[in-house]
Amino acid sequence: RMARFPFVKTLESFEFAYQPSIDAKRIKELSCCRWVANGENILLLGPPGVGKTHLAVGLGIEAIRRGYRTLFIGAQALIASLARAHNENRLEDKLKQYCQPKLLIIDEIGYIPIDRLGANLFFQLISRRYEKGAMIMTSNQPYSNWGEIFGDQVIASAILDRVLHHAISISIKGESYRLKEKLKAGLLS
Ligand code: ADP
Ligand code: MG
Repeated sequence: RMARFPFVKTLESFEFAYQPSIDAKRIKELSCCRWVANGENILLLGPPGVGKTHLAVGLGIEAIRRGYRTLFIGAQALIASLARAHNENRLEDKLKQYCQPKLLIIDEIGYIPIDRLGANLFFQLISRRYEKGAMIMTSNQPYSNWGEIFGDQVIASAILDRVLHHAISISIKGESYRLKEKLKAGLLS
């Protein structure tokens, strides 16, 4: 199954002790993937390095183990791909393609601002998948900033309204794990 993960990291290799704001028991429950079967969404919010992508990949691997078709894509790449398809008059096929995986993981919403066309195309995809397919989204920005990310409060609200209707929102507070590893290695003082 083509998941296209940026790296392969499992939930077993996640150090929950390092990130006490995450409820390990809850993640364990989510690893059963009932939420995938139900077409629900998981949103992982928090600053860089706290393990959002690691958890998204770990949950994606659990979904694949249970036979769910899963696709991982960065928000920027997803929007670029939709915009390209739109410009080449094949948006319909592209939207269908992104609706096929039972689980779609969209990583890193919020690092790069999204233009008007991008926001519009992203909304179309969310509408298509609404109450059909499950999604994981990760973002370094709180929901209150999504209007800025999408350059339009109305579109951002419409997106969040659908995404959050059947969703588990996990907000991670804490130190970057990348930083911790550097500190341990004595690379920073
Ligand atoms: P984010 O997506 O939140 O910026 P990542 O998930 O990419 O962060 O994590 C950064 C790196 O640190 C990755 O290599 C990841 O595997 C590792 N990492 C982060 N948090 C943990 C953790 N609690 N236990 C083990 N590894 C972690
Ligand atoms: Mg990440």
